[in-house]
Amino acid sequence: MRPAALSEGLGGLCGGLCEEAMRDDTIISPTGKGMRNDRQGLGHYRAPRGGRWHDGCDFLCEPGQAVAAPISGKVARLARPYASGSYEGLEIEGRRMAVTLFYVKPKPGVMGRFVEKGEAVGTAQDIAARYGGGMLPHVHLRITSADPCLFLEAGGNPRGEA
Ligand SMILES: [Zn+2]
Repeated sequence: MRPAALSEGLGGLCGGLCEEAMRDDTIISPTGKGMRNDRQGLGHYRAPRGGRWHDGCDFLCEPGQAVAAPISGKVARLARPYASGSYEGLEIEGRRMAVTLFYVKPKPGVMGRFVEKGEAVGTAQDIAARYGGGMLPHVHLRITSADPCLFLEAGGNPRGEA
C-alpha cells in the first residue's frame, strides 16, 4: 500500500490524519545507500539466516559515516545487538512506529532527544569486521512496533467515524 493510495481511499473522512500519515509513515535509508547483497547474505526482510530469517533491512554504509534518523521521533533508548562487545544501536520512537538501528554509535547528547527524519543520530560502525567472509558494512534497521492503521486497506477508517 502506497501512502498516496491510502490518502485517496480515505477521501475526506480522515480530516488531518491523512496528511499526518503522509509525513510520518515512510522511512528513509539511514545511510543514504541501498540494500545489502553480499556473500554472507541478502539484506532484505525475511532473507534466510541459517534456520532463521532476517528481521529487518540492511542498508550499506561506509564505516564512520553519519547515520540519519529513518523517522522523526524520540531517541528513546540504547539497543545493543550483542550482549558484549563494542557494537551499539538505538531505538527511535515516532508517532506511528518505532525503529531500531544496529551497528550505530549514538551521537553524544542524542539520547532522550527528539530528532527529525534525516537528522544525524550517530556514526556507522564496521559490522563486517566482526563477521568477515565478504560481508559488506551495513546498518541494520528493524521496525520495533507499528500502528496497524498504517497498513489498512483503502476505505478503512482509522478514526472510527461513520
Ligand atoms: Zn541485518
